[in-house]
Formats: sequence, structure tokens, C-alpha cells
Amino acid sequence: STSSNILRQRLQRIQETEPQQHAFTQVMLSEDTISSETRRLSEHDNLALAGVPVAVKDNFCVQGWPTTASSQMLRSFVPSYTATVVRRLQNQGAVIVGKTNMDEFGMGNTTSTSSVFPATVWNEKSPGGSSGGSAVAVANGSCVVAVGSDTGGSVRQPAAICGVVGFKPSYGAFSRYGLIAYASSLDCPGLFGRTVDDVSLVSDYLFGVDPMDSTTLDVVDSANVDADSCDLKGLRVGIPQQFLISELSVNVRAIWERTAKRLEEHGAQLVDIQLPSVPMSLHAYYVIATAEASSNLSRYSGIFFGHHDHDLVRTRTTGFGSEVRRRILSGTYVLSKDAYTKYFEPALKMRQVISSDFDNALLHCDFLLCPVIPKLSMPSTYENATEGYAEDVFTVPASLSGNPAISVPVFADKVGMQLVGRKLHDRRLLRHAASVE
Ligand code: GLN
Repeated sequence: STSSNILRQRLQRIQETEPQQHAFTQVMLSEDTISSETRRLSEHDNLALAGVPVAVKDNFCVQGWPTTASSQMLRSFVPSYTATVVRRLQNQGAVIVGKTNMDEFGMGNTTSTSSVFPATVWNEKSPGGSSGGSAVAVANGSCVVAVGSDTGGSVRQPAAICGVVGFKPSYGAFSRYGLIAYASSLDCPGLFGRTVDDVSLVSDYLFGVDPMDSTTLDVVDSANVDADSCDLKGLRVGIPQQFLISELSVNVRAIWERTAKRLEEHGAQLVDIQLPSVPMSLHAYYVIATAEASSNLSRYSGIFFGHHDHDLVRTRTTGFGSEVRRRILSGTYVLSKDAYTKYFEPALKMRQVISSDFDNALLHCDFLLCPVIPKLSMPSTYENATEGYAEDVFTVPASLSGNPAISVPVFADKVGMQLVGRKLHDRRLLRHAASVE
């Protein structure tokens, strides 16, 4: 059948690319799964995503398949349930080709911090991260769309580096049920695709409240936002002035300016926007994210499931890599009595201010246009950890505020530019993104 041929081609593509690129922690396609999936599809008509090959980041549970979050700690964990986003894709006929590589527990931006799997490679360099495996799987043709997770940029940043589209919806727009928690108030499932249209089409099956995740929300714009909202004429495009920072490289700045100019030539109006609190974002993010991580990761005691090594201390020392341990330590510190009032509470307050800065800004424009990455190529290892954290400067603001944001490849070099839209107006953001790509 056609779908089994398409799946066989993808399997072949994976076999060709995997030895160099290591995008997967586990390939699920095989002659066996191809025949069982084709049989399943033949029993249903009219499934919207029938036979569409999808890759899934290895921090989403798929029943009966190991789910490791690229950590030694979960090396032998086989979940008995499936994440809502994965289930919804399967219900529409999508076929999971495999689980993709990531930074351990999503902590990082290089896809090289796994304590179990080799680093993912793209053009002989790091693909970015933490969802680098999903970005590469789309970029190299192993699948059509891929699921990732974005806590502080982990979908947008690797998309920007690998030349594909990466969408982080509004917080709560895609269900977190079955996603291995990193920082729950920031974690968003997200999607990679070759085009904005592919991502929009699939998003429509993921939007909608999930009874299994009480933080889910319905997006507020309807499926048929007026067809010509794609037209740039009359749109107001916000240029956030606080993103013009010294860390921004000349190249990326030039691409940002060319993109803005092109939108203007197509009839959009450029508006200077102030987001005064944005310079505090990185500080607030790395306090809140580590605090929540230290709490979420306390469940890995070696007692109930996963890795066990002699005692609690040994279990956590041998089960977690060094970056994860660093985050647990800083998170535990910021939640300790004195540091709580000194760091954690101010970070939460700052987050509120950042969020209302975005709300105010988006009263004056239709979407914000800004970079995703500060420079075109990034090292795969850092001398000290905070240098790596600084790469997230353009992505963490929309994570803290919960606004939808998307990285769209522009011009011949396909560098990602970021669009940020109003909260829960995700479909409108996707429409606008289609006119920018
Ligand atoms: N690089 C950021 C971090 O390490 C973001 C990662 C993510 O979005 N999962 O926290």
C-alpha cells in the first residue's frame, strides 16, 4: 500500500542518517511495526493524519516503549500509558517512527548532555537543543512532523539552527499529560515541521482541553480565522527594543532587520515596542526552572521505579548527569529559607511583570518579531554552565509569560526568526507565521 511504502522510505532515511546524526534514542519503525500500523490504518477511513510519519521526543510516554528523557535514571522505564499529544496524533492515524534524542531531562541547548546516548549532530555541529533529535529528524527527512518540548526555548532554538519550523504554543494549549516534567509551570509540548502549514494542520488535532491535565486551556481563536489574516497589509509588527542587546551578533541582527524590511515592503507597519522587564528574563527563568526541577526530580529516589544503585545518594549520583545535578543543587538552594525571599519570590514577581509587559505590547501590535538565537553557530560545550544559559536570552521571555511563539526559517540561509503572539491566539500566530516564511 502507499502508506507502507512511504513508511519504508522513512525507515531507509533513518538508517542512512542515524550512524552520523544520532537523532533517535530508539527507532520504532521496523518491518513488523510497518505491517501492524498499515493494518490498523486499513481498518479506518478518513483519518486526517493517516500514515503521517511522526517522531516523538524521548520525554513523552508511549505505552510499552522505553521513555528515557535521555537519562540513565530512566534507562529501564517503560510507561504503561501514552502522552495525550502522542495519543491524539495516533488517533488521527499518525505513525510514530521513533523516540528522539535530547539533553537529559530537557536541561540544555546542545542535545549533547545525555548520560546514555551519543550527541546528536547536524552539519557536523550541535543542532541546538534540548529537542535537537526532533529538529534533526524533520530536517533530514526521517519524518514529516516531530513532537518536542519547550520549557525555555527547546523547540524554537533547535528549529532555528536546523532550518525548520518550531512552534511553542501558549502555555496550556497542548496537554502535558505523559510529558516527563522538567519545570511544570513552563513546560510546553511543541511541534517541528518543514512548513508552517504542516505545523498548523497537526496543531489543530492537539489543541483542546485535556481532562488529564488541569492546566490545559482552549485556544480562543476559531479554526477559520478570516482567511486573509494571512495578508500582511495593515498588520502591525512589533520590534521589541529590549532585544537589541550586545550579545546579538551582527549576522543575526542583519537577518532580523531584513525580515522586518521585507514585511514592511509587503504592507506591514513596523512599530517599536518596549518590554522593559525583558532584561530580567534569564535571571527569573534560571531561578524558577531550577526550583521546579529540584522538586519534580525528587521522585527519582530509586525506590519506586527507574534506576537503583545501592542507596539514595549513589542512585542519584550515578543516575543523573552533571548538568542535571547542578540544576537540582541550584534549585534546592533557591527554595531554601533565606534564598527563597532573596531569589525565588523576586523571580516570581518578575515573571508577572514580564507577562503583563507582553500583554501590553501586544495591544499595540499583531505580533512581535525578534531573533531566536544570538549568533549563527553555537559551541557544543561551554567552559562554564552560565555561558550556555545565556544563549536562551531570546526564548525564555515568552516561556515565562506563556505566550505562543514560533521560529520560522527565513531567506536562503534558513535562520530562524521568532514571532510571538497574544496568549491563546495560537491559530492567528500560525497564520501570521505562514506569511513570514
Ligand atoms: N536551555 C534551556 C534550559 O536548559 C531550555 C531548555 C528547554 O526548553 N527544555 O533550561
